[in-house]
Amino acid sequence: MTFGDSSTPGVELIVPDPHFIIQNNQKLTGIIITHAHEDHLGGLPYLWRQLKCPIYATPFAAGLLRKKLAEVGLSKIVTIIEFASGKKLNVGPFEISFIPVAHSVPETHCLAIKTGIGTIVHASDWKIDKEPLIGLPTDQECFREVGKTGVLALLCDSTNVFEDGFSGSEGALRQSMIEVISNCKGRVVVAFFASNVARMETCIRAAQKNNRRIALVGRSLTRIAEIAKSCGYLSDCPEFIDVRDIGYLPQEEVLIMVTGSQGESRAALSRISNDNHPEISFSEGDTVIFSSREIPGNELSIGMLKNQLAKLNVHVIEENDAFVHVSGHPAREELKQLYDWVQPSLVIPIHGETRHLIEHCRLAKECGIPSALKVENGEVLSIRPDKAEIIKEVQSGRYAVDGRRLIPLKGDVMKLRRRLNLTGNALVTIVLDKHCDLLKVPQLSAPGIVDDMGQDAVMHSKAVSSIEKSIQLMSRKQKTDDEKINRVVSSSIRKFFYQETGKRPMVILHIVRV
Ligand SMILES: [Zn+2]
Ligand SMILES: [Zn+2]
Repeated sequence: MTFGDSSTPGVELIVPDPHFIIQNNQKLTGIIITHAHEDHLGGLPYLWRQLKCPIYATPFAAGLLRKKLAEVGLSKIVTIIEFASGKKLNVGPFEISFIPVAHSVPETHCLAIKTGIGTIVHASDWKIDKEPLIGLPTDQECFREVGKTGVLALLCDSTNVFEDGFSGSEGALRQSMIEVISNCKGRVVVAFFASNVARMETCIRAAQKNNRRIALVGRSLTRIAEIAKSCGYLSDCPEFIDVRDIGYLPQEEVLIMVTGSQGESRAALSRISNDNHPEISFSEGDTVIFSSREIPGNELSIGMLKNQLAKLNVHVIEENDAFVHVSGHPAREELKQLYDWVQPSLVIPIHGETRHLIEHCRLAKECGIPSALKVENGEVLSIRPDKAEIIKEVQSGRYAVDGRRLIPLKGDVMKLRRRLNLTGNALVTIVLDKHCDLLKVPQLSAPGIVDDMGQDAVMHSKAVSSIEKSIQLMSRKQKTDDEKINRVVSSSIRKFFYQETGKRPMVILHIVRV
């Protein structure tokens, strides 16, 4: 699952096209959730009705998923089978071992999938961190054991394939955060991805060390904190203070954890910055720490947010200013270590854009992996002990979650909506009598282009005249043909608006004959 942006007006969530899996539904024995990140489980509530199979997840991911399923009325229908670290489970014809790995959310697991012809390792999202603070470190021994049995293919995270060295440790970050916050005056607000429970705990410890009380602002943060506590995490953390009480405390005694590190307009940080939050506002001298990475595509919204913070004289600290974030994905040295432990015959890069996948193939080959294959969405890969190859392409793509339904992201509805968004829409109604003459003055509404009142009134009436004129110039025979009228009127109105505004709106014409 991913999120919509300015190119998908009206759409907040985007999910994969499940067509191929639905076609092969009789072979679908289950869905395994490797960890509780949105891009790994967020699509399920929207797709499950078409897939209808059991879901396997750890208690933390299951806790989050149950809440999401409840929102769409599925919580009592979907079977969730919980699995534990280091355990094995038979799912259909496969024996699956769950190998714990460090990542930026608790209970992340790689899967060693034992099949009839050999083992496939799906590495999920992972990193190497000896001190992940919450959850288990990446289990080197377990990977080595699997490697000894011979691994046909390793599907591996490519997010940070361009980063040299190691991704860094959450443990080291905690020390740095304590120090950074000790130098802050005023309130400290820390923004990060809600699911990062270790980061939440880091903020809590940093606040405690600096004698600050802690508040949580943002629905997803509150939800994650609740689930984390129910799974036994954050157990010795102090109670959070009520958001409404923040105003009564001295500013230098408060640390607020917020959602919205990516500049999301409806998240807490943007709302507070725009003075649009019922309980909290910024004061000069407050500090906002972005304890997160800028996700490609969000630069604009994050930039706008930072400008707003600058206007308020709020001090901003981000990754480039101080050690306030570590990635949850493996850098090059970590990738090399995993290859060494697992010794796969084939590496299949996943979790990255095309350039990441290509670079990952290059790195794998450089490290002596016999084969590395870039596989794009929709390509079907056949893996045999002696050979792996792409054998065909099947339907794939993306669906937009549009209100309560799914629509193809590249379909006509979305195409039209994008056009409407860019050019506006001219709605024209003409009424013709039995001689095919105009019976009334054409009606024109052009929302997003002209206002028929106020300063655009003159342009609006000129546009109506141009419609009248274009119809009057047509012969009676031509006017018996709706298609013809449509072409003539659309072209005339588009031309008119182009001359007047430089824009060619989409035209929808209704013809009424009486
Ligand atoms: Zn991911
Ligand atoms: Zn992840």
